[in-house]
Amino acid sequence: MTFEEKLAETIALLHKIAGEFSPAVFANSFGAEDMVITDLIAKSQANIDIFSLDTGRLPAQTYALMQKSAEQYPSQPIKVFFPQTAATENFVNQHGINAFYESVELRKACCQIRKIEPLKRALAGKKAWVTGLRREQSPTRTDLGNQEYDSGNGLEKFNPLIEWTEKEVWAYLRDNNIPYNALHDQHYPSIGCEPCTRAISIGEDVRAGRWWWEDPANKECGLHVKK
Ligand code: SF4
Repeated sequence: MTFEEKLAETIALLHKIAGEFSPAVFANSFGAEDMVITDLIAKSQANIDIFSLDTGRLPAQTYALMQKSAEQYPSQPIKVFFPQTAATENFVNQHGINAFYESVELRKACCQIRKIEPLKRALAGKKAWVTGLRREQSPTRTDLGNQEYDSGNGLEKFNPLIEWTEKEVWAYLRDNNIPYNALHDQHYPSIGCEPCTRAISIGEDVRAGRWWWEDPANKECGLHVKK
């Protein structure tokens, strides 16, 4: 399949989602893939709302990209969801500001408060959600398809870039002058919260910089885990 055919299929899938699974939303975490989808939704005018989760611990470069994105795509506002104040305060006051380094349990508890609970609110009442996942990205993502039922959240989940290669993502970003996270130029292929993301070295897996102190088999925050 040529890249043009792949691109046409991706756009057709976005229109199908908008037509058959309305209301549908796209979860934008401002990674390279997510900027491709943002651009495709804006240009194709597929009726898919965009939201983002602000965990309160994102890198400054991600906030800069949020702002740039709002300026480049004024017709495509991105609704931001924040963690619940009381739960965040309780967790931090009980376990400390950087408790996620202490154990997988505390790391998952932090992700639950700062990501999973806000995600549930963002997905409430929706028929489908769209993500920028690609099969190549992680050992936990090798069996993904472009559509699956998300039983944990009770709605359809679409991964329109599942077959895209990293090279195709970057070619699309550059050819279309799409803004991207400045950390990508500093060897951060995968970007999450600032304290839980580091740069990787040549030859390391693209998600090696996420929760780098944990076993690779556990390295999902819960947003994309199958129940
Ligand atoms: S990635 Fe780190 S800081 Fe962000 S929610 Fe998860 S544990 Fe907390």
